[in-house]
Amino acid sequence: MNIRYIQSKKILTPQKGGFLTEGEYPFTHTLSWAIGCGFGSIYCGKYCYAQKIPNWYYSREEGEEWGDALIIKENAPDLLQKQLSNARTRQSMRIFMSSVTDPYQPIERKIRMTRRCLEVFQKFDDLDLLVIQTRAPSVTDDLALIADIPYAWLSMTIETDRYDLPYGPSKAHIEKRFDAVRQAVEAGVNTQITVSPCLPYSHDFATHLVESGAHRIVVDTFVLGDGTQGTRTENSPFADTVNYDWRDNSIAEQLYQQLRHKHANVTWSSSGFVGILPRNQR
Ligand code: SF4
Repeated sequence: MNIRYIQSKKILTPQKGGFLTEGEYPFTHTLSWAIGCGFGSIYCGKYCYAQKIPNWYYSREEGEEWGDALIIKENAPDLLQKQLSNARTRQSMRIFMSSVTDPYQPIERKIRMTRRCLEVFQKFDDLDLLVIQTRAPSVTDDLALIADIPYAWLSMTIETDRYDLPYGPSKAHIEKRFDAVRQAVEAGVNTQITVSPCLPYSHDFATHLVESGAHRIVVDTFVLGDGTQGTRTENSPFADTVNYDWRDNSIAEQLYQQLRHKHANVTWSSSGFVGILPRNQR
């Protein structure tokens, strides 16, 4: 993994359209302190839409593939402090961290970039929403801090409970993520699970999701969730290799219907991601 550090000019990216605005309560900004992803070489890197985004294309060095490099915006916490201090509309800010990488990178335990950003958020109690989207169980390092940010939500990706899939998670990793969700709920953190994208799953997956205690569940598909109606997934290394029809939305739809009978707050695709109520209505 090639690690490079840069000084960035901004850290909050205004959202003017796209997946994170296609719902009732759109996000206003995204926050990604890195370009690239240290998980890019594992299964999700095979279909990850973020590798198709120009930011990575223009920042990588010749020959680098997704997962080969992480470019760290070294001044992210300072920029965040400045942008939040100067924001005139802070009370309406709804921030998604992160849209093109994972905030709990393997290197996070060494550099604590996400933790330092959370410590900045902790100083401002008047934002509307911060969603911390990750698939890394190491988010549990920061649960006390997240619980202390009144508008923060942990959003944990759990795409399946099956560990026998080509390009799927291991048994240990699935269990660790469920455990992280349970710990977050116990710590008083607002917690959602995103089944995104929904992979083939076992008979008991819906029950496992409900029993985790997550406050919300979002179910999404490859076709609806990659931002290009499946084109990005079709052009990924994943599409030619798997032994199931990743275009079949009914796999996710069946899970969604099962969950609706078992859980009070189950939502679908972009309207689910973009459906957390404003703070004054929660
Ligand atoms: S962790 Fe997220 S950003 Fe990183 S490769 Fe997997 S899906 Fe992409």
